[in-house]
Amino acid sequence: MRRDQVQSYLVGGVNSPVRAFRAVDEEPLVVARAEGPFVYDEEGRRYLDFIGGWGALILGHAHPAVVEAVENAASRGICFGLSHPGEEELAERIAAAFPWIDRVRLVNSGTEACMTAVRLARAVTGRTLCVKFEGCYHGHADGFLVKMGSGGATLGLPSSQGVPSEIAGTTVVLPYNDEGMVRRLFAEQGEEIAAVIVEPVAGNMGVVPPRPGFLETLREETRRWGALLIFDEVMTGFRVSRDGAAGRFGVWPDLLCLGKIIGGGLPIGAVAGPAEIMDLLSPAGPVYQAGTFAGGPVVCAAGNVTLRVCDEEDVWALLERLGRVLDRHLSSLEGVSYVRCGGMWSLFFLEGGAPLDFQEVQRQDSAAFARFHAVLRSRGILAPPSAYEAWFLNTAMDEALLEEAARTIREEVEEARR
Ligand code: PLP
Repeated sequence: MRRDQVQSYLVGGVNSPVRAFRAVDEEPLVVARAEGPFVYDEEGRRYLDFIGGWGALILGHAHPAVVEAVENAASRGICFGLSHPGEEELAERIAAAFPWIDRVRLVNSGTEACMTAVRLARAVTGRTLCVKFEGCYHGHADGFLVKMGSGGATLGLPSSQGVPSEIAGTTVVLPYNDEGMVRRLFAEQGEEIAAVIVEPVAGNMGVVPPRPGFLETLREETRRWGALLIFDEVMTGFRVSRDGAAGRFGVWPDLLCLGKIIGGGLPIGAVAGPAEIMDLLSPAGPVYQAGTFAGGPVVCAAGNVTLRVCDEEDVWALLERLGRVLDRHLSSLEGVSYVRCGGMWSLFFLEGGAPLDFQEVQRQDSAAFARFHAVLRSRGILAPPSAYEAWFLNTAMDEALLEEAARTIREEVEEARR
């Protein structure tokens, strides 16, 4: 009997939709344990894991220093709901990577970080509209669950039931990488726009880097019209470089959202920025935000040791070396488009070069990807279970493992296209 036919107390058998593997028409992978670059299923089968906790695990699974730090922290108390030194240390480590940051608020997820950043932007500007880009994901808060209507820039329509149209209508969706549309929207409605939120390297439609000039245009237009620029670096922060996509492309937002890596594999998010904006948050200011578990001792211990090891081992140089192994094997493949930015990458079953926006991404052959995914899984490689998700590298991988994986991937790309 298929696992999804078995009565489960979990809705759809999972706690987050993508884990159901429906986009590739497979059974979910039920993990028994994970170590280094591998996850193991209940039958003891081993998979080279390119999901990597959806990007959270830059050091791989169960890194000994992270496990030790978590154990030590837990033995001193799992939840205080009070201040402790580890949260200040984590904030300081984050601020050290982004020199324009004075303040950090730790929250429990990337979703919360993005919600809070938009709330701050609305408070700062006294305006309502939030601009986002099609194919970018900023968590599951109501205002972000909006897709583009026909004809380019339209007021958002909810793309989930349960989202009131009044809330969806506070979001405007534009195509990614389209500077002209950004300029036109600001020219028409600039004085109503509180914020532009963007994944500065999109990772939630597969990896779509910004075209030269795109981020610069966002910076220019938001500054000109008095709106705030929010970089959602929940995925890219500490991944595409130490100072994220902001540093890699040299464009500095007003507010930064982080998550994933900074928690070392435990639930976390963070909003960060200059004091004059961040000090509007409660208790310093009038913008409310709070959390029972926010900045707890165990997640801070995991985050602190992860960021410390990242610095000590210069993991970004290492990920770049690993990435070059993939480049060698995959960039010349025919019939697919291979895109990599630092430690994240994608393979689109798509002819004609790397996609620049969601519409181009949607032209990929998702059925070919599904066939490819299933065969890779049978050969011990765990790719993300959707053609719209990024693949992640981590420092527990090595060049030999990636050589072998890249050869398998090459063979199976050619098979899946037949
Ligand atoms: N923003 C981006 C860019 C993400 O990739 C994600 C999650 O994948 C989120 C926000 C939401 O983060 P979380 O799942 O921790 O709520």
